Amino acid sequence: MRSMKERLRRFMEGRYGADELNRFLTICGWVLLLVGFVLSGIDNKATLAVGSVLVGLSWAFLVLSVFRTLSKKTGQRAAENYKYFVYKNKVLGWFRTRKIRWQDRKVHRYFRCPQCHATVRVPKGKGKIRITCPHCKHQFVKKT
Ligand SMILES: [Zn+2]
Repeated sequence: MRSMKERLRRFMEGRYGADELNRFLTICGWVLLLVGFVLSGIDNKATLAVGSVLVGLSWAFLVLSVFRTLSKKTGQRAAENYKYFVYKNKVLGWFRTRKIRWQDRKVHRYFRCPQCHATVRVPKGKGKIRITCPHCKHQFVKKT
């Protein structure tokens, strides 16, 4: 008789297993399920409809996560996980930038270069100034 643990190990052989994206999908799934249940419990047609959609969506997330865990196409799953990391870093980076700009709001102003769309930081309170983009050397006038 093989132990349960051994059977599980055999079953998972060659399968992808857990990764960061699956953890994210699972958390999303549970949060959606919880919010969906709460909304469904409210005696109101609109919240019941939204709640049902969220519960349905939560299943999609959870099933997808299980599917990825059991998948044998490990290369594809790893590529998805990598994409997830790239996207996550972009989102986190966006928030980090907002935070820095917010902390910096009394000292600097940020403009987007009209030519190359790079972000240019200039000291605040200098009146109308000609800004030279450090990337493409394009000049534009802005009030700081
Ligand atoms: Zn530029």
